[in-house]
Amino acid sequence: MLKNISCGTLRSSDVGKSVTLAGWVHRRRDHGNLIFIDLRDREGLVQVVFNPEMHAKAHEIAQQLRNEWVIQVSGEVAPRPDGTVNTEMKSGEIEVYASELIVLNPALTPPFYVNEDSAVDENVRLKYRYVDLRRESMRDALITRHKVVKYIRDFLDERNFLEIETPILIKSTPEGARDHIVPSRLYPGKFYALPQSPQQLKQLLMVAGFERYFQIARCFRDEDSRADRQPEFTQLDLEMSFVTQEDVLLLTEDLFTGLLESLFSDKAFVKPFPRLTYEQSMKDYGTDKPDLRFGMKMADLGETAKKTEFNVFHNVLKNGGIVKGFSVPGCGEFTRGQIDELTDFVKERGATGLIAIGINGLDDNSGLIDMDKMRSNIARFLTPENVNEFSVSTGATEGDLILIIAGESKSTNSALAALRHELGSRLGLADPEMMHFAFITDFPLFEWDTESGCWNASHHAFCMPRDGYEDYILKDPAKVIAQSYDLICNGLEMASGSIRIHDRKLQEDVFAVLGYTRDEIGERFAQLLDAFEYGAPPHGGIAPGIDRLIMVLTGKDSIRDVIAFPKTQSQLDPLFDAPSVVEESQLKELHLEVVGIEPDDS
Ligand code: ASP
Repeated sequence: MLKNISCGTLRSSDVGKSVTLAGWVHRRRDHGNLIFIDLRDREGLVQVVFNPEMHAKAHEIAQQLRNEWVIQVSGEVAPRPDGTVNTEMKSGEIEVYASELIVLNPALTPPFYVNEDSAVDENVRLKYRYVDLRRESMRDALITRHKVVKYIRDFLDERNFLEIETPILIKSTPEGARDHIVPSRLYPGKFYALPQSPQQLKQLLMVAGFERYFQIARCFRDEDSRADRQPEFTQLDLEMSFVTQEDVLLLTEDLFTGLLESLFSDKAFVKPFPRLTYEQSMKDYGTDKPDLRFGMKMADLGETAKKTEFNVFHNVLKNGGIVKGFSVPGCGEFTRGQIDELTDFVKERGATGLIAIGINGLDDNSGLIDMDKMRSNIARFLTPENVNEFSVSTGATEGDLILIIAGESKSTNSALAALRHELGSRLGLADPEMMHFAFITDFPLFEWDTESGCWNASHHAFCMPRDGYEDYILKDPAKVIAQSYDLICNGLEMASGSIRIHDRKLQEDVFAVLGYTRDEIGERFAQLLDAFEYGAPPHGGIAPGIDRLIMVLTGKDSIRDVIAFPKTQSQLDPLFDAPSVVEESQLKELHLEVVGIEPDDS
C-alpha cells in the first residue's frame, strides 16, 4: 500500500517509528521556517512538520500544499516539544517529522470547509457529497452506522437467524404508500414495483421453512416529502416462525438493550421496556409515539368543562368533541405573549385555540385556588371549584400551568401531543442521553379514512387479529384489535411489526374490508394466499428503521445526515442530478411516451 500505517491511529507509543502515511491535507500552517500540516485519513489527524534544514526538498514541495490535496508523507514519529502538546487532538502528544513528500493529487478549493463544522446549504452539501462526507461528524455517523449494523448481524446470527436477500424488482407489496414502478422492456405495458418492504417475501420465506430470517433491507415508498422520510430507506427486516407476540417483543428488547450496552454505554434506558396499549397511549399522551422521558400526562376534562360557563366547551362537547389538557410544571406565571405564541403553535396543528390556566397560589381560608393570583385567558368563565377540578385531574399544583384544547378528537389529540413534545424539549425535560424505549401494542387492525370514505390498515394488511376478534372483521371492522406493535423511543416510531395472518380465508376477509374486489385480491396477492394453503406456519416479525435509529444514536436532526447519498427533502439528488430525462430511444424501447408536460429547458 501507499501507506504502512493510518495517520489517525498514531499515538505516543509509536514514537521512534518510521512511517509512511497517505491522506488529505486538513490544514496547513506556514510558520516561515517550519510548515505544519494536519494530515487526515479515515481514522483521524496527525500533525506533520516540514523542516527546511533537515529535509529541504520535502519542505519545498510542502510550500505548494493546499487544503484537501492528497499526499504521501514518510518520516519519523516524535514527541511534541514541551508546551506544544494539543489535548484536543487524539494524536496531540506526537508529530511526524517529514523526510519525503509526494503529491498524489492536487485538489480544487473545496466548496466549503472540511475542517470545520460550519453550516452549509444542504443542496451544496449533497452536490459535493464526497467532500461533505469527509467532515468529521459525517464520517463518524457512517462509522457508527456500520458498527450498529454489524452488531445487529452478529446478534441475529448468534440466535440462529439467516440473512436472505429478496428482490428489488417485484410486484407491489403495499405498506400504505405509493409504489415506485419500473417499466419492463421485455413485456411492454407491464411494470415491476419496488417493494415498500419485503413483507410478503419474508412471509413466503416462513412458509418455505426458514423459521428465522433477517435482512438489512432497502424499502421504497413514494410518499410526499417529510423531514425524516426518504423515498428509499433501510430497515432491519426480520421474521420468525412458531412465535407469539411476546417472543418477538423480548427478542427486540434484547437486541436494542444489547446494542446500547455494547456500543453506547453513555446512553441510559429503562428495562424492561414499558408497554402501553394503543388505547392507553392515545388517552394519556394523545399519540401512539409519546416521548416518555417526561411526564405531563393528559387528562380528559370533559366533565369539569361542562360545569364551566365557557360556551366553547359546551358546543364542542355537544358535537361529540373532547376537552383535554395537561399540566406544565413551574410555568404558572406565563405572559400573554407566551400563550399567544403557543396558541399559534397549536393552531398550525389543527386546533382552534388554547386555554391556559396558571395556578399561582391557594386561598388561605378555603384551601381552594386563589382566584386573584390565577391567570387565565378564560378567567371570567371559571369558578374556584372549576379550576380546582382541572388541577386535580391534570395533577397541577401551585406554580403550574394547565393547558387545555377543546375540539374534534383526532385534531385535538394531535395538537396536544405536539404541544407536549414541544414544551418537553423547550423546558429541557427530555434528557438527551436517555433512550426511553417502549412498546405500544394492540393497535386497531383498521382505521376509517374520512377523506376517501374507506377502511385503511393501521399497520398493513397482513396483521393477525387478536384471538376472539376474527368474527368482527366483516361485521364491525372498527372493533378489531390486531396482534401488532410498535417500538417507540423519545417520541419517534423505531419499529413496527405484528403476528401475521397465515390463513387464506382470514386474509381474504381483511383484503375485502380494505376494499379489494375478489378479482383484485386474486391478481395482486395470489402468491401469498396460495402459499398459505401449502403448509404455512404461524409467524410474526418486526422491522426497525435503521436510518432513524442511527439518527437518534448520533444525535442528528435529519436522517439525511446518516445516509451516505440521500435525496433532498424534495426528493432530488443534486449529485447525480436525478431524476433526469432519458433518451427518446430508451422510452421507445419501453413503449413509453411522456405526455402532458412542457420540455424541461432548465
Ligand atoms: N413490513 C412492516 C413495515 O415495513 C414491518 C413488519 O410488519 O414487519 O412497516
